[in-house]
Amino acid sequence: MPFRAISGHHHVFELLGRAATRGTLPPSLIFAGPDGVGKRMAAVAVAQLLNCLAPRAAGAPADGCGECAACRRIARGVHADILMVEPGDTGVIKVDQVRDAIDRSAYRPFEGRRRVVIIDNADAAMPEAQNALLKTLEEPPPASTFILVTSRPDTLLPTVRSRCQRTRFGRLAPADVAAVLMRDHGYGEADAHAAAALSDGSIGAALEGGTEAFVEARNAAAAMLQTVASSTDPRRRLDGATALAGVKREIDRDELARRLYALSSMLRDLGLLLARADERRLANADLEPKLQGLLRSFDGDRALRAFSAVDRALTALDRNASPKIVADWLAFQI
Ligand SMILES: [Zn+2]
Repeated sequence: MPFRAISGHHHVFELLGRAATRGTLPPSLIFAGPDGVGKRMAAVAVAQLLNCLAPRAAGAPADGCGECAACRRIARGVHADILMVEPGDTGVIKVDQVRDAIDRSAYRPFEGRRRVVIIDNADAAMPEAQNALLKTLEEPPPASTFILVTSRPDTLLPTVRSRCQRTRFGRLAPADVAAVLMRDHGYGEADAHAAAALSDGSIGAALEGGTEAFVEARNAAAAMLQTVASSTDPRRRLDGATALAGVKREIDRDELARRLYALSSMLRDLGLLLARADERRLANADLEPKLQGLLRSFDGDRALRAFSAVDRALTALDRNASPKIVADWLAFQI
């Protein structure tokens, strides 16, 4: 998958594209950033650009064509010069896997211009395996590039980190996450926005959460805000707690946590609307009319206070406070 098919990270791709085209790409790289934002796909895109038979040099970023024999073989994982090393069934990368990749990278590329060794979830490499890499990362064989992909770069050995140039991948904008969910995963618009709002900028997290749970959490959070927005009457406050935590049965911890995250993402959006920030930054852009309706009740201070109350509620929940008590408490704080 070439760069242009991956969402977000435009600046990173521009830099990588330029360096790869000029031949100045460092041979040992770490792609670091949250899970599920496209780091591994980006590593494959680099491998394509380095070996593409008809790379796109014009326009930004420089990119593999995605269609030539080399690009297609790389995308299918069958190109002889692109090695993917990843954790096996045991969840770790063993020293043998790393040694094998190093041995193979010592030869000239077989069918392409450059060998690319991608080590995905590199933090899963056993210390022995990481140590085996040191010499190669220090002085990679000519015509070889090593890319270590990780969401936990700080758990790599310092000696590994210091030998690689780090490229940082940020979280995706909620609008980008929603667009990918609709384009590649068949989500409808409402579901995509609900999942994106709670995904914390990670497509992986959005897909993992299960659409229904996200939609339900957001509905409960919106109902709660609406209930407490216009009234200081204690009974209405308790209705707010009920809207958040339900009545029929004791809500479970994970469920309430999800609703609290939804609440916090909406309160953050209220803050953005109050500050007249760019609407593209809203996590819940599809709920904007509803949020606009809440603005009058949530002046700057109230939104901010509510936001930090939700934060405290999440901490309390973490420390084993009962979900019902947390919801009741929060309804009076917002
Ligand atoms: Zn190509």
